[in-house]
Amino acid sequence: MPRIVKTAASNRGLQAIGAPPGNPARRFFAQLKDNTRFARTRALAPRPALPPVTTPFYDAIILGAGAAGLFCAAQAGQRGLKVLLIDHAPKVAEKIRISGGGRCNFTNRELDVRQPHKHFVGRNPQFCRSALSRYTPADFIALMDRHGIAHHEKHKGQLFADRSAEDIIAMLLAECAAGGVERWQPCKVNSVSYQRGEHGAAGVYQLTTDQGPASAANLVIATGGLSIPKIGATDFGYRLAQQFDLPLVERSPGLVPLTFDGAAWEPYAQLSGLALPVEISTGSKKERMAFHEDLLFTHRGLSGPAVLQISSYWQPGTPLSINLAPNVDLAAALAQAKLRSRKLIANELATWLPSRLADAWVAQDAEWQRPVAEASDKAFNRLAERLSRWEITPNGSEGYKKAEVTLGGVDTRALSQQSMECKDQPGLFCIGEVVDITGWLGGYNFQWAWASAFACAHSLKPATTRL
Ligand SMILES: Cc1cc2nc3c(=O)[nH]c(=O)nc-3n(C[C@H](O)[C@H](O)[C@H](O)COP(=O)(O)OP(=O)(O)OC[C@H]3O[C@@H](n4cnc5c(N)ncnc54)[C@H](O)[C@@H]3O)c2cc1C
Repeated sequence: MPRIVKTAASNRGLQAIGAPPGNPARRFFAQLKDNTRFARTRALAPRPALPPVTTPFYDAIILGAGAAGLFCAAQAGQRGLKVLLIDHAPKVAEKIRISGGGRCNFTNRELDVRQPHKHFVGRNPQFCRSALSRYTPADFIALMDRHGIAHHEKHKGQLFADRSAEDIIAMLLAECAAGGVERWQPCKVNSVSYQRGEHGAAGVYQLTTDQGPASAANLVIATGGLSIPKIGATDFGYRLAQQFDLPLVERSPGLVPLTFDGAAWEPYAQLSGLALPVEISTGSKKERMAFHEDLLFTHRGLSGPAVLQISSYWQPGTPLSINLAPNVDLAAALAQAKLRSRKLIANELATWLPSRLADAWVAQDAEWQRPVAEASDKAFNRLAERLSRWEITPNGSEGYKKAEVTLGGVDTRALSQQSMECKDQPGLFCIGEVVDITGWLGGYNFQWAWASAFACAHSLKPATTRL
């Protein structure tokens, strides 16, 4: 691998010095020997031929040691590339650590790689088809199996680690070690610049960081989205993308609890903590999106898988439609009950709904607070309609502090779907959540992180072929 020395005196360009190929450890020691030889030469020679300051040079620098960055670094390193992984946070992969209730829902068996629009949101969900087909859930499962990490399937194809998400982080770090990946962490990147190559040669990315300068033939942006800033999320990746003139799709929180006006929410606030299966939908006609999942009432609004899923499709100002009793025809069931029951409506409703919800619901109308036998069909129909088509308009969401993902990001039109490389900026790649691809709840976001990282890692060209 070449060692590149920036000629600090003239600051005019970069020189490649040949170094032997081989595995990363051999390369490292060869380079060390080279540096020692260089230091000796300097001591003997009257004027050094080379500058006293050397900038470490890599085939690829990857920014962000999260799911996508770690996996990309490991894969690229194992291909023999010299890789530097930089993260500003003290710990790697904080989102893996907190994901899936600490067990990381690392992929989903139901992913249909031929129909990515079924599980991914973005301006062009078809963009992820190529990467998802080349690195599938089965590939990541095989990796977990090679590392002896036991896992299990839960709801709707979701796969979780049996023991802890920490096992997956340890696996990714072991894979990085096997690839000889160098890691600078915590390390703040202060600036990134690109030095265009001369005479058609590829350019070089130059970084200044808290740990000194570094340069590389390839730069990978894997800094993720904006959610959960307290564990290290920043807008750095988007700003960097803008620096290189990449278009961005507007960003907003996704997979996020939704909130409601205080007064409008007052009757439901008492239901906080209650969970039940529902059908939830938003939009109309071709735009309609619906999910059958669990809903959770909170103090400020609605959460649970149903709402997290729908939040990625919900447009501000529009209502949600919720069927609180999706498995029964309530109007018919209540009419039947009228023939045989002497109970209050709330008590009959409790056959199909949690009793707290039934009590809160009937409290909204005096007509519903009677025995079933005394209620009019009209009152039943209104009650059934309100429960099976509860329309409510959120006033917003809990925002990035609670969102699992960021919708929007680097516009996929600027990227190659095979390699994740920017079409107009050679050697610059974007992977993972920073790209305008967002998965459904259920392991799809990690699968996108692995697959986009894999596509990138296997497209990175070593510096020797670029320079
Ligand atoms: C609470 C929670 C639970 C989740 N659960 C799941 C789940 O079970 N299944 C699933 O598929 N998805 C889940 N997700 C989503 C998933 O975590 C992300 O989609 C995924 O981590 C994205 O991977 P990434 O590598 O692109 O970004 P990240 O994993 O977020 O990694 C980005 C990295 O970049 C670093 N970084 C940021 N700014 C800078 C900077 N300025 N300089 C240097 N480094 C920087 C960060 O410190 C971080 O290490 C969850 C998300 C959250 C918040």
